[in-house]
Amino acid sequence: MSIFWNEKIETMPVRDLQTLQMKKLKAQVAHVFENNPVYRSKFKKAGITPDDITTLTDIEKIPFSVKDELRAQYPIGLQCVPQEQVVRYHMSSGTTGKPICCGYTRQDLEIWTDMMARAFCAAGGGQKDIFQNAYGYGLFTGGLGFHYGAEKVGMSVIPTAAGNTSRQIMIMKDMKTTILGCTPSYAQLLGETLSREGCDVEHELFLRIGLFGAEPWTEELRDRMDKTLGLSAHGGGAFDHYGLTEMCGPGVATECQNRCGLHIWADHFLVEIIDPDSGEPVNPGEKGELVITTLSKQCTPFLRYRTRDITILHEELCECGRTHPRIEKIMGRSDDMLIIRGVNVFPSQIEYVLLQHMELAEPFQIIINKSGPLDRLLLKVEQRDTIPPLSRDDLQEILEAELKDSLQISVQVIVEAPNTLPRFEGKARRIIDNRS
Ligand code: ADP
Ligand code: ZN
Repeated sequence: MSIFWNEKIETMPVRDLQTLQMKKLKAQVAHVFENNPVYRSKFKKAGITPDDITTLTDIEKIPFSVKDELRAQYPIGLQCVPQEQVVRYHMSSGTTGKPICCGYTRQDLEIWTDMMARAFCAAGGGQKDIFQNAYGYGLFTGGLGFHYGAEKVGMSVIPTAAGNTSRQIMIMKDMKTTILGCTPSYAQLLGETLSREGCDVEHELFLRIGLFGAEPWTEELRDRMDKTLGLSAHGGGAFDHYGLTEMCGPGVATECQNRCGLHIWADHFLVEIIDPDSGEPVNPGEKGELVITTLSKQCTPFLRYRTRDITILHEELCECGRTHPRIEKIMGRSDDMLIIRGVNVFPSQIEYVLLQHMELAEPFQIIINKSGPLDRLLLKVEQRDTIPPLSRDDLQEILEAELKDSLQISVQVIVEAPNTLPRFEGKARRIIDNRS
């Protein structure tokens, strides 16, 4: 079994990769300019033409694209090919507003499937694997994206889709599933159910690889899932997988077996990291907003798309042999960041503190209320039923002290009884902001 799907491209010398990027960038810019009036007028306003783009850094002359522009052009104002070339549409899950719609030509689908196949191989998957696909099928890109990628590799795909947890577990046991794909929230719910049912995951399950994406999750959660799903017991582990509808869906960036950042496929995507406030590039190795330009897309290409996802880019070569750069685990969306009494708080910081406590179940809820001029952060957490509990008062006191220390603001904690907070089959919705 090869660890590469497309070894030539995945290990292409960086210099050749950049030459390829330049060639494709010019073609992509010419394509949007020739075929879409919205892009033409945008170029005109910025005082540039495709001829101004002659080096990779010239990309900075092109104005950014943002999600609101996409919404304004809903549904297909940014389409760059005639209708007869479009073979599918997907829409984003609309986590932060009205959905956006992206189309695919046949070639767009082939490239997407190829990137997904690379991801499966990078995690150690191959033809002999049984892949249970518990991502949602439908408008959401997760289901079909993973499905076709796994089929391309030649795995046996079981399209369970998300939900129906007890049937999901039955199938996992009976079919001897080796790879599971789903959101990390749903992986937690599966793990929790397996523990509650007393399943001996090492002997009753065969899960080796988890491909978890579509929302942020932490290293601490990885350790838990390696164990609760029996992944490490079978010589594998949980892998992070990043994507967004605007780029294709899943398949944009993925972890290799070194699990040291997610390789972002540079033959199809050109990456920048900017300061989200100034829009200026950050220094190498600094944290900022991920901006992506598609290099191969036909139907709905994007130039300098601001993802709002916060990460760090690493260009040093990875030991796996892949030459494509890596992004660190997404730390959150810039619009996920809560500003509480002037202090920036990411939900992942809260999750980090909570995951240090085995006596807590994974679900939590962040509620922000306004009391007079002040914002108040209320955190609901849940006791785990399988661990002898600390008293709720003790737990509350400990958590409030730890959160104050870590976030630099005071947080009121409520410890709920086991199995009372909501669970999610797709992406979690953990924040309730009552301020507006
Ligand atoms: P929506 O924006 O409506 O949720 P998408 O389904 O396209 O629609 O979601 C893409 C977004 O999901 C990304 O921009 C990112 O914020 C988040 N996301 C996807 N994969 C990951 C991941 N592995 N880690 C963190 N966030 C992720
Ligand atoms: Zn690697």
